[in-house]
Amino acid sequence: MENLPNILKNEPAFRKKQIYKAWFDLNINRYEKISTLSLALREKLKNIPWLTVKLKTLQTSKTEHTSKALLELTDGEVIETVLMGRDNKKEDKPAELRYTICVSTQVGCPMNCAFCATGKMGFKRNLTTEEIVDQYRYWQKWLGKKGKIDNIVLMGQGEPLLNYDNVKNALNILLDNTDIGPRKITLSTAGVPSAMEKMIEDKEFPTVRFALSLHSATENTRTKLMPSHQKDFLKFLIE
Ligand code: SF4
Repeated sequence: MENLPNILKNEPAFRKKQIYKAWFDLNINRYEKISTLSLALREKLKNIPWLTVKLKTLQTSKTEHTSKALLELTDGEVIETVLMGRDNKKEDKPAELRYTICVSTQVGCPMNCAFCATGKMGFKRNLTTEEIVDQYRYWQKWLGKKGKIDNIVLMGQGEPLLNYDNVKNALNILLDNTDIGPRKITLSTAGVPSAMEKMIEDKEFPTVRFALSLHSATENTRTKLMPSHQKDFLKFLIE
């Protein structure tokens, strides 16, 4: 079966934007319903799944504020994503729930941190741009009008900076099509110096918050905990 990137390969940028906008419209549930697209393009898209993830298992906390979903991808691989609710109490208004979602960026992870179950799985593949965005779309659809996602943390399975292009595209799509601003999105990394340098220079990389898992400020201990630690990383970090 054709996939979305192949079908859109020769389409102008505005077409892709129309599709991305439709992804976030809860009244649309398949490509054929995007009325701004030509009939010919809608025909080509009609067999493409509207969401690239589907629920495998869901666990919800007693307070019902936190849920963890295992999502199955179209090739049968499975990833984890978490929804965390919190009261947004304002003095004179009733409390309303706001949500943070924790998003995965890879199936498995090659960084092999000693304390991490995902690291033990090894690395299977990078998530596509759609699969990253679809974790947000999955939760927003699940919540419906009951709640609003206003924070995204890239702290799920995988090292985001090892999936640089797809993470960058996904973040730009989320920023363009939701009212979540860059300061409400956090990219968390175990530290990939080459990608960190690239990100600083890259004008198209959105100015989201950046979190680094340090775990230890000495090279020896950090190397034991995080075998991906590169020599002189701490010096690089200070500079
Ligand atoms: S980078 Fe993150 S996901 Fe990967 S092994 Fe380390 S803690 Fe686990």
